[in-house]
Amino acid sequence: MSSLNFPLFKTKVEGLDKKFDITFPEGRKEYFQAKAGNEIKKLQDFLQENSFIAYLLGKKNSGKGTYAKMLAEIVGNDKIVHLSVGDMIRDLDEVVADPEKRKELVEFLKKNYRGYLHLDEIMAALEGRSTKVLLPSELILALVKKKIADMPKKAIFIDGFPRSMDQVSYSLFFRDLMGYRDDPDVFVMIDVPEAVIDERIKYRLICPLCKTSRNLKLLATTKPGYDKQADKFYLNCDNPECPGAKMETKEGDELGIEPIKERLKTDEELMKQAMTLYGVPKIFLRNSVPVDKAIELLDSYEITPEYTYQLEGEEIKVGEKPWQVNDDEGVVSYSLMPPAVVVSLIKQLVEALGLK
Ligand SMILES: [Zn+2]
Repeated sequence: MSSLNFPLFKTKVEGLDKKFDITFPEGRKEYFQAKAGNEIKKLQDFLQENSFIAYLLGKKNSGKGTYAKMLAEIVGNDKIVHLSVGDMIRDLDEVVADPEKRKELVEFLKKNYRGYLHLDEIMAALEGRSTKVLLPSELILALVKKKIADMPKKAIFIDGFPRSMDQVSYSLFFRDLMGYRDDPDVFVMIDVPEAVIDERIKYRLICPLCKTSRNLKLLATTKPGYDKQADKFYLNCDNPECPGAKMETKEGDELGIEPIKERLKTDEELMKQAMTLYGVPKIFLRNSVPVDKAIELLDSYEITPEYTYQLEGEEIKVGEKPWQVNDDEGVVSYSLMPPAVVVSLIKQLVEALGLK
């Protein structure tokens, strides 16, 4: 097994013994102020007059979007945006289905797209008539440019670009192409053990009504259930806006990372490639910490809990304990709650932007 070996990061603050409930926005707010208040202020001051571009690199399902959105939530959604290239491409289905919007897109591409693939072929690919054509980097860049042009200037966390080796070089010129010439850029690399990704997928549950996503093992609802026939525990949706339903497993999820092994390998190669780049500052985020280093580096509430279920008569008893996984080198580790990773992101970002 290979490994990225990112440095460990300490989120523990000496003398700060308060236990924060970081599963809720209010608790998180207090937590971030206590652990990184100074750095948050520095970022906010910087973003009054400036912006930056950050490239999120990490394996599929490593939580890139979660971290970026949480950072925006703390520093200011009016100043930071998470731009997912995958979502952008998916949204195109709607655009090409609408004659008005389709026309507008074609007009834009006529002016802004330059590449080897003919525009007709691209539109055919977008309309799903041709699955053989992979969307070229030149097109992705033109689309991102359109997206950026359509919104007020903000710091951007771009997720899903670069996605292949040839796109890594493009990213060196990306800020110039996007009109962010004078703004700093930075690579944010996320290292999550594959065992974590595997269990996130395997135990993932989704509400058939409101599409809320949870995890039987890692992110329970307040309404567990027990299926006698199958001798299995499950979750009921507890979203207050939802009438409530038994949450379901998506077909294929029981296979975990098996179907995406190749993709995970490519994602890792991509990160290794980006790590060798000169001239661009890099931020290293680790999702896991070896169990024997945990006391020294973090507070217990920053560790992802594992939920266990037990039947006592008719009642379901839900237990909670620190979740242990083997990292990619086989070291017994804890996985961090997203806010703890975001504290590391904030502190490294302040340094990368030279705001110390
Ligand atoms: Zn629901």
